[in-house]
Amino acid sequence: MTKLLIDDAGWLQSTEVIRSPNFDARPDNTQIKLIVVHGISLPPGEYGGGHIQEFFCNNLDAGAHSYFESICELTVSAHCLIERSGNVIQFVSFLDRAWHAGASEWCGETACNDFSVGIELEGSDDQAYAEPQYRGLANLVAALRSRYPAIDAEAIAGHCDIAPARKTDPGPAFDWARLNRLLVG
Ligand SMILES: [Zn+2]
Repeated sequence: MTKLLIDDAGWLQSTEVIRSPNFDARPDNTQIKLIVVHGISLPPGEYGGGHIQEFFCNNLDAGAHSYFESICELTVSAHCLIERSGNVIQFVSFLDRAWHAGASEWCGETACNDFSVGIELEGSDDQAYAEPQYRGLANLVAALRSRYPAIDAEAIAGHCDIAPARKTDPGPAFDWARLNRLLVG
């Protein structure tokens, strides 16, 4: 797989970009030191409709599905989405703060959005993620660690790990051992 490169402005090179308005500046002097893995599908359990992209850009049509009514007013984002095909889309520069984690805590520090990169996998808690997504994620994690060395080998967590009372994603279907094998190999 082609090595991913991240430019000085915090954008992946040769990668699809859809800019989300849902971001702001990280606090001054914040080091990027954590990767948060999420799972999302819209509507839940359905893939490929383009609704995640619409959601992150505040363009979700509330009338298109009953579930959308309950979420269409939210302003959220992630830095990247990895589709079932393994295709990566970037929404927010890594230098900026995407709005993916909410109230959260990692290693005693709260507000994980401040210092993390949020990566959404298109998926569901209880359905196997696709092989190309693991390869795409491993590739992306390698690029992020190389560009932002404060992200050490332990600094990757599920949304469920940093907000356990509220969140279950990426869920039991996400195979951490498989990701780790790809990262080592
Ligand atoms: Zn999440």
